[in-house]
Formats: sequence, structure tokens, C-alpha cells
Amino acid sequence: MIQDDFVDSFGRGISYLRISVTDRCNLRCCYCIPPGGFPFTCRTDILSYEEILRLSECFVDLGIDKIRLTGGEPLARRNLSSLVNALSQIPGIKDLSLSTNGIFLADQAEDLFEAGLKRINISLDTFSSAKFRQIAGWDVHHRVVTGIEKAIQVGFHPVKINAVIMKEINDDEIESFVAFAMEHPVEVRFIELMPTHNSFVAKKKYFVSNDWVKNEIAKWAVLLPEPRLPGDVSEVYRPAHGVGKIGFISSISHPFCSECNRIRLRVDGTLKLCLHGEETFDLRTPLRGGKSKAELVQLIREAAQLKPKGHQFTGSVEDEAVAYMCQVGG
Ligand code: SAM
Repeated sequence: MIQDDFVDSFGRGISYLRISVTDRCNLRCCYCIPPGGFPFTCRTDILSYEEILRLSECFVDLGIDKIRLTGGEPLARRNLSSLVNALSQIPGIKDLSLSTNGIFLADQAEDLFEAGLKRINISLDTFSSAKFRQIAGWDVHHRVVTGIEKAIQVGFHPVKINAVIMKEINDDEIESFVAFAMEHPVEVRFIELMPTHNSFVAKKKYFVSNDWVKNEIAKWAVLLPEPRLPGDVSEVYRPAHGVGKIGFISSISHPFCSECNRIRLRVDGTLKLCLHGEETFDLRTPLRGGKSKAELVQLIREAAQLKPKGHQFTGSVEDEAVAYMCQVGG
């Protein structure tokens, strides 16, 4: 039975679940993975696909209708398309999507599409081999671009490209990203660097606001605003010329916490109520302890009340203890 009162203690309706299927990743992005690495969740603590499905059905009963699979790198977990296939058959899920770094996408795009995935976000921060190596540890930007092209060819729609712009690292590539959006049927989204977990991002010197990015673009391109879709945190524009779109996600300079409809399920079954907050709730123990669906639904409803009013990004090194983005899934 779908319920219509899945709201937190601040009256925000919760309809969007992001599920991290792994905390492992084949990239080492400087803003995501801490320099010394972090302890991976041990195999026995990772939710199986059956467990993810069981919890997803509880979330859907509560009113969740949008699910995104993320990680770590979700395509690094074996046979992800089988999970996609099972999730796509849960009545009530209207929107099933995936965030990926794109490295394995060319190989898996067809299977994922056939399994029922219809839209996809791909991370790409640079078109330069040297910078890809600098940002992510090794250079596979050609594989990511091939993955993007394959996703378009297979029929994913929309295909969104997530780009984190960092001062004096890739802030000279904004024109290339806009050109990419003009030439491809994709939405390139500029995501502000969030000061999570490590000394790299705690150093505010890399932060670039999306207002600055917009001003740069305005020097040589005209962006026409698109209507804002309900629940969409991105401010979307269409370049006056070209086929794609440009989006801005300005979590730091213009936080959207008052409209936040998201909760996150970590790879170990921990419910995380805010991307950058300490409020969590262990769902794995009751799930494995034999609680009924009705009991799990009630626990999730109560846990949602822990969702804080707003995120706690401060950019200080103390943030290191709060979250590794690679564990939470962005
Ligand atoms: N591996 C997948 C991917 O690359 O999309 C999914 C996980 S990744 C953590 C999800 C998104 O979070 C990526 O687009 C990444 O750029 C973004 N991200 C990670 N750390 C970030 C940070 N400190 N600030 C802004 N975005 C970040």
C-alpha cells in the first residue's frame, strides 16, 4: 500500500532514494576519495541485491518513486543490470537512474538499457588526458567519452554529464564543456565543489561558484532559461545554438535544503538522512534480524524524522570525519 505522508519533521515530502551499491571505485578523484584511501565495507556487511530490493519495496510503499543507483562506482559491482531489472519491475518506481564514471559504460550500456534503465548521469571533469590523471589518478577520459557516446546511441534520455569545476585545475575548460553540450544531446551540469572529507576540498582555494561559471559563459554564449522541473535541484538553460543543455547545481552558493526530498542508503544498509550530516539509521540489523515489511516501513518512517533542516558544509578539516563522498554516493 502506497502512503502519501512520507514527510520529515520539517514538512518536506521524501520521494527520492539514492542507493549506493558499492563503496569501491576505479578512480581516485581528489575531491572524493581521501588521500590515504579509506577502509572498504567488508563483504558480509554489504547489502545483497535481494536485500536492496526488499528495502526498496519498503521505501516505495512509503512513497518513494525515484531511485538512483550510485557508489563508489556502481558499474564495478557484478551484474548490476540484474538489480536494475528487478527494481524496474517494482510498481511505483517512476524514475530509475544511475550515476557512473562511465569507464565500463560502453560495455554495459545495452544490457542496462534492456534491463529497464532509461536515464543516466556520467561524471566527466576534463577533456585533457593530463588533467584527468591529475584529478582522478589515471587517464581514461577517452573511455568516458566513448561511454557517453554509447549511452546516447543506445537511447538513454536524458544523458547528463556531471562536471565539478575547480579553480586552476579545470576552470579553463568551461568553454569546452559548453561546446560539448552544443554538439551532443546531453545536459552538462556544473556541480559546485563540496567541502567533504579531505584536506583537498577543505582548502577553499579550489572552490568556484556557479555564478562565476555563468558569468564566464555569458562572455561568449547566450543561455536561455528552461522551466524548472519539480524536485529538480538543477537550474537548466539551453544554449541559443546547439542540441544540448547546461545545468547548474549550486549546493554551496545557493543551497536547496529547504526543498530536499532525498534520502540515501549506504552500501552497508545505513540510511543517511543528509548528504553532509551525521544523522544516520542502521537498517541492516532489523532487515537481517527478520523484521517484517510493515515493521521496516515503520522504522524508515521514524528514521526520516532525523533528517536535518540543512547540510553542515563548513569546509573545515573537521568535516573529514563526517562523510566520504565515495561512501555516500554523492
Ligand atoms: N562513481 C559514480 C560517478 O562518478 O558518478 C558515482 C559516485 S560519485 C561520488 C557521484 C558524483 O559525486 C560524481 O559526479 C562526483 O563528481 C560527485 N562528487 C564527489 N565528490 C564531490 C565533491 N567533493 N564535490 C562535488 N561533487 C562531488
